[in-house]
Amino acid sequence: HLRQPEIKCTKTVCTYCGVGCSFEMWTRDRHILKVQPVPEAPANGISTCIKGKFAWDFVNSEKRLTMPLIRDNGRFREADWDEALDLVARRLLEVRDAHGPDSLGFIGSSKGTNEQAYLVQKIARRIIGTNNVDNSSRYCQNPATKGLFRTVGYGGDAGSIKDIEQAEVVVIVGSNTAENHPVIAARIKAAQKLRGQKLIVIDPRKHEMAERADLFLRPKSGTDLLWASALSRYMFDHDLADREFLERWVNGVKEYRDSLAPFTLEFAETETGIERQDLVEAAEIIGRAKSVCLLWAMGITQHSRGSDASTALSNLLLVTGNYGKPGTGGYPMRGHNNVQGASDFGCLRDRYPGYGHVSDNEARERWAEGWGISPDELSDEPGYGNFLMVQAADEREIKAMYIVGEETAFSDSNTHNVHTAFEKLDFMVVQDVFLSRTAEFADVVLPACPSVEQEGTYVNTERRIQRSYQVLEPLGDSRPDWRILTDVAARMGHDWGYTHPSQVMAECARIAPMFAGVSYERLEGWKSQLWPVAEDGTDSPLLYTDGFANEDGRANLYVLEWLPPEEAPDEEYDLLLDNGRLREQFQGTNQTGRTEGIWQQIPHGFVEVSPELAAERGIEEGTWVRVSSRRDSLEFPAVITDRVRGKTLFMPIHFGKPGVNLLTGEHNDPDVQTPAFKETAVKLEVL
Ligand code: SF4
Repeated sequence: HLRQPEIKCTKTVCTYCGVGCSFEMWTRDRHILKVQPVPEAPANGISTCIKGKFAWDFVNSEKRLTMPLIRDNGRFREADWDEALDLVARRLLEVRDAHGPDSLGFIGSSKGTNEQAYLVQKIARRIIGTNNVDNSSRYCQNPATKGLFRTVGYGGDAGSIKDIEQAEVVVIVGSNTAENHPVIAARIKAAQKLRGQKLIVIDPRKHEMAERADLFLRPKSGTDLLWASALSRYMFDHDLADREFLERWVNGVKEYRDSLAPFTLEFAETETGIERQDLVEAAEIIGRAKSVCLLWAMGITQHSRGSDASTALSNLLLVTGNYGKPGTGGYPMRGHNNVQGASDFGCLRDRYPGYGHVSDNEARERWAEGWGISPDELSDEPGYGNFLMVQAADEREIKAMYIVGEETAFSDSNTHNVHTAFEKLDFMVVQDVFLSRTAEFADVVLPACPSVEQEGTYVNTERRIQRSYQVLEPLGDSRPDWRILTDVAARMGHDWGYTHPSQVMAECARIAPMFAGVSYERLEGWKSQLWPVAEDGTDSPLLYTDGFANEDGRANLYVLEWLPPEEAPDEEYDLLLDNGRLREQFQGTNQTGRTEGIWQQIPHGFVEVSPELAAERGIEEGTWVRVSSRRDSLEFPAVITDRVRGKTLFMPIHFGKPGVNLLTGEHNDPDVQTPAFKETAVKLEVL
């Protein structure tokens, strides 16, 4: 008799979205037998969505990278690790020595572990000497973080998912929660049913949560600052502002109140298209509720004034006293599973791990001491974020890039420009699981392991740090991210000696006060910690219970000005293109596209067209149409649906080799340089 291989059961964390579901993965050899959610899982309990449960076939895909690749005469050839690592280390140092530290740019993965993010920024800052380091939060959540920094002081969600469940009223703005954060949506649906929680949805798109809302408001795209400010004004004018809270905790009340003069209900109605009585109803529900949680996502942030709109939402929460109590606060919904952690652990152009600013002497001295160097060796100039790094590459200012697990060639706006910029680089390294669209531009491709083949930690949308364990051995010669980065550093003369990712976390916890009490021991099994974590391990599920994270312990109301979107439809490009994700797919489908059962759910792209526009243009269900922006064109079949309205189209982001960003432009939020992905004027032709 042959012995059956043993069945193993290992805890892992889902890497498909910011909810941070964890579950047991049952395996035999390399076969993933099942994903089993368990009640102990802190963010999801016994729930998962279709991706977390089933979309794992990519792990054993024949297309996985299993050997390093080096470009030789324009073609990739396989190489061993020694040759690839030596080449990477040598070329990065050569570029630095020839052109200076700021001629290099680093992008860490917002899907990879915290330890990976920490090491990417450590190589950039400690070895190369540049702050040109970032992660994909630049494309999604930076504007939300900016809005929170301006007002309450921390860039993360104000409370936990439990708070969202407990709130009397939940307001969802510019977030297709049921598709993008399915388990949080399920918990809101349960709270509606079991506790009578009230739900307001404010979104141009009529998605599932809009259909389930007690009140659904449909503003014109990009006008959120207006209605939010009009609601704030209404609170002051109708004695619904929380005066006691404002007096005790908030600066700038008078100045802010005065600045609201233009934001009348009439003005908001005219500009947003939301009827006055609906604005009043929303204001009355929010103003009279004991606790309100406000969730927002890329419908707010991917606009040319995304930071300002995010700030307006946080202002509204302050005016109504909705911070620091259970069931209250602002909740930017983090998209990628570790976009929060990649930012928390320092993959940002201006922040060390734990958010000390690079120009703040105290923070710089602390990190220099922690790394055993002089503060002068660390740059005090903020670097370039992703978007500006690519622009700088196009201008030949940046000459080498190192990208870990990010599909920049697909995810950045105006794909043509990104590709041109990458072709101009002297040297490019991509570390990934697959030969991604971005990796195709690289000089060296380093084969990394997916989450289930390495240990590490992740931070979900509610700031919860969780451990993920190694389920399978690395496939072929692929290696964990932390190990590749440690090896690259060693070959550049910096032998940091890490033999396990827990040592990376221990180093970060020793230097960054925000993570002082974080350790692998305290995160063992199903245990988790929500930052900030004090030295004794006490964590912070709800922020601002005892003051805000600004120097004086108070929040700030932030004065804003209304500015219209940068790119709007005109006579020639007469339609607006919206875009976003579907529940069944993930980004460019490198992972979900390799699980047949998932892929078959929605195997191709489409364009949503409103019934009004379809009637006007003679478009029927399935008619092929060409959608053209000032940049390029894409062709897809039409789906006629009232999820979109009037002259707005919607396209999922997942499909096509170049994808929707062939159409999007480079106009961006001036505060954080997040491209205005959702402000694209297009025209449509019937094919
Ligand atoms: Fe994974 Fe998000 Fe689905 Fe949870 S809700 S299983 S984290 S994709």
